[in-house]
Amino acid sequence: MQPKNSLDYHKVFSKIGSQLEHTDNLGEVASYIPELFNVDPKKFGIHLSTVENRHFDYGDSKERFSIQSISKVLSLSMAFKLEGTALWERVGVEPSGNAFNSLSQLELECGIPRNPFINAGALLICDVLVSHLTNPKEEFIDFVRALVGKDNINYCERIALSEKEHGFRNAAMVNFMKSYGNIKNDVEEVLDFYFNLCSIEMSCAELSQAMMYLCSNGINPLTNEEVVTPSRAKRINAIMQLCGFYDEAGEFSFKVGLPGKSGVGGGIIAIHPKKYSIAIWSPRLNEKGNSYRGMKILEFITTQTKSSIF
Ligand code: GLN
Repeated sequence: MQPKNSLDYHKVFSKIGSQLEHTDNLGEVASYIPELFNVDPKKFGIHLSTVENRHFDYGDSKERFSIQSISKVLSLSMAFKLEGTALWERVGVEPSGNAFNSLSQLELECGIPRNPFINAGALLICDVLVSHLTNPKEEFIDFVRALVGKDNINYCERIALSEKEHGFRNAAMVNFMKSYGNIKNDVEEVLDFYFNLCSIEMSCAELSQAMMYLCSNGINPLTNEEVVTPSRAKRINAIMQLCGFYDEAGEFSFKVGLPGKSGVGGGIIAIHPKKYSIAIWSPRLNEKGNSYRGMKILEFITTQTKSSIF
């Protein structure tokens, strides 16, 4: 028998087209990484995967895009598994209330980033992974491929290079943390790994599949392997809830009511623990760096289905 909530998703997905006609497409495509600017701002895709392995999609859901900071959820998961709770001595779990690339808090808090999802925190996580892995780039992309169940998920060299050429703020953050002894490896190696993680390309369908472990108690449903323990899956969702949208995390919680994570490529991933994972892509960003339409359509979906974690 079809689960009741699947019927709800079917109904709400059939309304997305008309809802989009009533939703502005405001904001700008990210331009501070020049290669990211070459994306058609009208693109729109969405894919929802349920724990019963049902799938609902709309629009450009199979087209790959730059996942950017959404990869921070995956790098945190891998680092948490490898480093365990000692991780929290080097990075916090508090919302920052600041822009993703802000430097000011880092100075006030002596080189300990507020959380793993602002850039400083994600760079710190990259440092942890560089310490643990023999071939960080290869091992990380293999980790992601196993979550998606596809061997052809890749970094985009063009985007990574473009970002490297303009990554002065990220370079400043790593150097600053290094001055406090909170970065253990070579600064260039950490930055190179970070830019590569941000450059990974996936479609909404692939992203929602990759994140299924966060709604399945830490288990990758494709392989039945444990990605993280159930307790750690809970904690990662908690950090997404509080920190996934930088200084717009409150707004996302208020309107959508799910843990989530955005990227400046215009993607958003949101998790309904024990129910579904949903990925959405619309490249125009609001002034906080989060997908303008993505936020609005996710709000529409949780409102229409009357389901959120609250
Ligand atoms: N690669 C981007 C950066 O480091 C990621 C930012 C984001 O997606 N919020 O600036």
